[in-house]
Amino acid sequence: MADSNQPRIHCAGPSISEREISYVTDAVTNCWYSDAGKYHQRLESAVSEYLGARYVVTTPTGTSAIHLAMMVLGIGPGDEVIVPELTWIGSAAPVSYVGASPVFADVDPNHWCLSADSLEAKITSRTRAVVVVDLYGDMPDYQRIREIADRRGIAVIEDAAQAFGSSWQGRKAGTCGDIGIFSLHGSKTVTSGEGGLLVTDRHDLFERALTLRDHGRRLDGTRFYEDFDRYYYHFELGNKFKMSSMQAALALAQIERAEELVARKRQLHQWYCEQMGELACFRIHTEREGLTNSYWLPAVSIEPGQQIDKLYVMRKLEDCNIDIRPLYYPLSSLPPYCDTPSGREAQESNRVSYDESPYGFNLPSNLRMTHEDVVRVSDVFRQLNLELAASPPPTN
Ligand SMILES: *Cc1c(COP(=O)(O)O)cnc(C)c1O
Repeated sequence: MADSNQPRIHCAGPSISEREISYVTDAVTNCWYSDAGKYHQRLESAVSEYLGARYVVTTPTGTSAIHLAMMVLGIGPGDEVIVPELTWIGSAAPVSYVGASPVFADVDPNHWCLSADSLEAKITSRTRAVVVVDLYGDMPDYQRIREIADRRGIAVIEDAAQAFGSSWQGRKAGTCGDIGIFSLHGSKTVTSGEGGLLVTDRHDLFERALTLRDHGRRLDGTRFYEDFDRYYYHFELGNKFKMSSMQAALALAQIERAEELVARKRQLHQWYCEQMGELACFRIHTEREGLTNSYWLPAVSIEPGQQIDKLYVMRKLEDCNIDIRPLYYPLSSLPPYCDTPSGREAQESNRVSYDESPYGFNLPSNLRMTHEDVVRVSDVFRQLNLELAASPPPTN
């Protein structure tokens, strides 16, 4: 049986091989001066090929990629951007960075991603875009979302930070909107420690991204214009969102191993299903028709009627030195948003998010986990399931 003397099972974390080490060593040793962009270029083409996306821009974080997306789309004060309630705050915070207002939409109880009905209900004349989140590797109904967005003339930003390697009806996660973004944070399926990617098929958006992530310079290859040089001429105010060669080298090695890393995530999920699929008190989320889930972190719902919530489960697992993650709090319930008009409206209207949030969590799925680790985690749940079955909820 599991106990707290056993080594910690981390919730997420990378797989690092000789390939990563050799690329990073090469980058830090050689990639300066005229080779400074070598790994960025290789990374951009590898990502472009893997995803089937035309243009790729590297950024320092996933958050800055979303921030850049807002800038590229010209979103600013007076504008509204719709964001699902249940997501990492990085999906929503950049809306405020550009002076616009986030409007929170509800999620679908089956997969916790954006509900297309709620999206439609939240659109106003001020809505400019929606950030659609592929939560935990799952993906929502993009056909309906696109149809609504196109009809109402709003842009779709796909936050695929948690879904590298997933696909929906044959389209890779990150390519279902006007702009897709990824995070390469150390917890994500492919990582550069810290890092991010912005992807798009639209040349106009790509060009805007290159200028806006480089303090408003235009890097069109021209060194000397008629009466000024390119170095310190800023066409507009931008930001500085770039990645180093060392990060690009690390990310490249990971992208080259993407199939292996995604296969590992799917294997871990499969093992959990074998171990925990029969437990009456818990439901492990699985793939719907048309979806390939790269299962960044396996998602689990506590079945209705149980007298426990996510905190109870987390404490139990913590006692066994196992790190699990709760489902997010509804963003509209948190201090940055709860007293804003759109936050208050969301607290009333987003019932599914408020109902689901206390009863969801993620299983550990770090890329060094073994079958034995999965069994150790599952044993705790088996015990919890027995405990719950032995003390059924009081009937009233
Ligand atoms: C990780 C993550 C981000 C942000 O990524 P960082 O690289 O940490 O800035 C954004 N959205 C979601 C859903 C994420 O999980």
